[in-house]
Amino acid sequence: MADQPVTLTFRGVRGSMPVSGPTTERYGGHTLSIDIDLGTRQRLIIDGGTGITTLAQDLVIPPDGIDFHVFLTHYHWDHLQGILFFPPLFDERNRFTFYGHSWEGMGVREAVEGALRPPWFPVSIFETAAGKEYVDLAGSPFRVGRLTIDPATLHHPQGVTAYRISNGANTIVLATDYERGDPASDETLRTFAAGVDVLIHDAQYTPDEYPSLYVGWGHSTRHHAVAAALESRVKRLVLVSHDPHRSDDEIDAIVALAREKFPATDGAFEGMQIEF
Ligand SMILES: [Zn+2]
Repeated sequence: MADQPVTLTFRGVRGSMPVSGPTTERYGGHTLSIDIDLGTRQRLIIDGGTGITTLAQDLVIPPDGIDFHVFLTHYHWDHLQGILFFPPLFDERNRFTFYGHSWEGMGVREAVEGALRPPWFPVSIFETAAGKEYVDLAGSPFRVGRLTIDPATLHHPQGVTAYRISNGANTIVLATDYERGDPASDETLRTFAAGVDVLIHDAQYTPDEYPSLYVGWGHSTRHHAVAAALESRVKRLVLVSHDPHRSDDEIDAIVALAREKFPATDGAFEGMQIEF
């Protein structure tokens, strides 16, 4: 059924690097990974940060395996680092399709196989037992189960892909590792996210620290996220890519301040689910 709800789960919500300790327990310390359960045979994953390892704990692999569709926003380490710690990749019953953008002539296969191999890791992704396919994004949408996934290019060092995921009735846009301020990119997101049910938006930096320290680093602030939510008239805003040095209480404060301008705002935390 086209309008049957699906559940999105945040497995990791941290930007840049994983962290641990008592001040990060509520939002969690894993780097970005999100999954959508499409039934026992299909699983959509966005990014392979360390959070992907917690998805493995929830999976039961059926006898004929699972088709994993892994949409990568980009290839920075924090978005790939969990992939070779994901046991289903070492199970020959499973099949993985990796989707990602090309950068300076380097496609998704070269980017992933180039990063996930010796001497940077003891084994190469090339040698893992699961079936693997690589699909370079070309701007056109994909169908995975009952979902339609649309990519769009936004502003970030080496580029980043935002994804719009629709089940026919409801739509979510993920725009992480995106730095607002490039007029063409901002306009792309404004139309891409117009009227969607949920906008998941980068808010790594505070408006106080951003102008003096972090312009050009590829991330946004809560002000940027709220501006994007307002101009696209989205129904709900979820802040993600929390700074690794930010405590739970500091993220609470960021969310509270964002709510003054856009009340339907939440901060993504590990285990948070959105049914849509
Ligand atoms: Zn990045």
